[in-house]
Amino acid sequence: MAQKIQGTEDLYGDYMRAWQHMQDTARELFGAYGFDMIETPAIEQIDTFVHGIGESTDVVRKEMFRVVSGALFSTLLEAGSEHGLKPRQRMAMRPEGTAGVVRAVVENNLVPQGSSPAKFWYAEAMFRGERPQKGRLRQFHQIGLEWIGASDAASDSECIIVLLEFFKRLGFDPAQLHVALNSMGDEACRPAYREKVRQFIVDHQDAMCDDCLERAKINPLRSFDCKNEACHAIMQQAPLVTDNLCDACVSHYDQVKAYLHKAGIAFSEDPTLVRGLDYYTRTVFEIDVVGAAVGAIGGGGRYDGLVEVSGGKPTPAVGFAVGFERIMLALASCGHPLEIPQPSCVYVAYTDAPQRQAVFDATLALRRAGIRAEADYQGRSLKSQFKQADKLGASLCVIIGEDELAHNYYTVRDMQTHEQTCVEVDGLVAFVSEHC
Ligand code: AMP
Repeated sequence: MAQKIQGTEDLYGDYMRAWQHMQDTARELFGAYGFDMIETPAIEQIDTFVHGIGESTDVVRKEMFRVVSGALFSTLLEAGSEHGLKPRQRMAMRPEGTAGVVRAVVENNLVPQGSSPAKFWYAEAMFRGERPQKGRLRQFHQIGLEWIGASDAASDSECIIVLLEFFKRLGFDPAQLHVALNSMGDEACRPAYREKVRQFIVDHQDAMCDDCLERAKINPLRSFDCKNEACHAIMQQAPLVTDNLCDACVSHYDQVKAYLHKAGIAFSEDPTLVRGLDYYTRTVFEIDVVGAAVGAIGGGGRYDGLVEVSGGKPTPAVGFAVGFERIMLALASCGHPLEIPQPSCVYVAYTDAPQRQAVFDATLALRRAGIRAEADYQGRSLKSQFKQADKLGASLCVIIGEDELAHNYYTVRDMQTHEQTCVEVDGLVAFVSEHC
């Protein structure tokens, strides 16, 4: 039997309804903040991600699914390396949303000089070649928001505020949501800080793992995230970014915090919070659920350098992404599982073959009026049609028997009270609209 790839999931039924509900919630909430939806291709040139996310990040080095067309695949195998491929032939499945949105904004010139910001949100599948485990999939779904062209610290704070509101609308108790906040500095102060951390790792190299020694060469800040306990303990003593920010970054960070205080948003500062993608500058944040033990359910930050790296004019930007599957796990573990009931429907039942045409006519009329209607398509007995109606959670059942057909009316049964009403054929849609 064909099987799905490990770390991927089929979305249907309750789970699919929850994913759609999450998108509807995002559409309504983010729409009120002036964000429009965008969808970028699931495959992009590798360079879009390499330049944006960073060559040294785990996402790019280890987790990106690389793609070549079928025709090129055998050439690639024969050549033994991808060096002969042109840049446009080297593709990858998107591991995150920001790099693609920024590419689209630059390519379509959506933030011309002096214009207002581009404000987009997306709901897309992402692909990362991670070792599958609970809450860590190879194909998962993110909802994200990108605010491109906004430099004011108010936009950083509003991103956090709208994100918390989104979680609240999904059913989280705001008291359980923990916001971790940090500033990662910018091009003026981060290079010197990075060098300090590199030197710190070199000074402690005897006690640190090989991965961290490698990180010291390419991206020392990643060592703050090392899972090795010894490294973790040592990194607690490492120089902190917040002690090494330039004046402009300190001032921006102070403003972000002041706006959050003003809005009554609780947060804790975590000077070791470094997000896994290279493009972040200044504000970074992550949200997790106290007691849920599923990891971060969302995170984001400012990425003032990314538009320029992607070939555009220098343009400040800020955004975030949340993971659908993680949110589902977190909600379930808090005792508020996201359960979206099936929409109610009307079932049209009949007693015998001569009434089948009347069933066809009634369901068609109901559906044309936008009412969800179901009927039997397998020649079931009346009894099993009723069972089916119950299973589908029908609120009303239209019954068409010999007498109904002969005298041009329907019997409509309320499935809860079992009360039955005779309704003229022409009056069915009006009756159902009123009672469904
Ligand atoms: P990131 O782009 O890594 O900051 O991830 C943003 C959010 O996406 C995380 O907070 C998680 O909720 C979710 N996420 C990231 N990686 C995975 C994964 N492999 N499987 C499921 N959800 C993920």
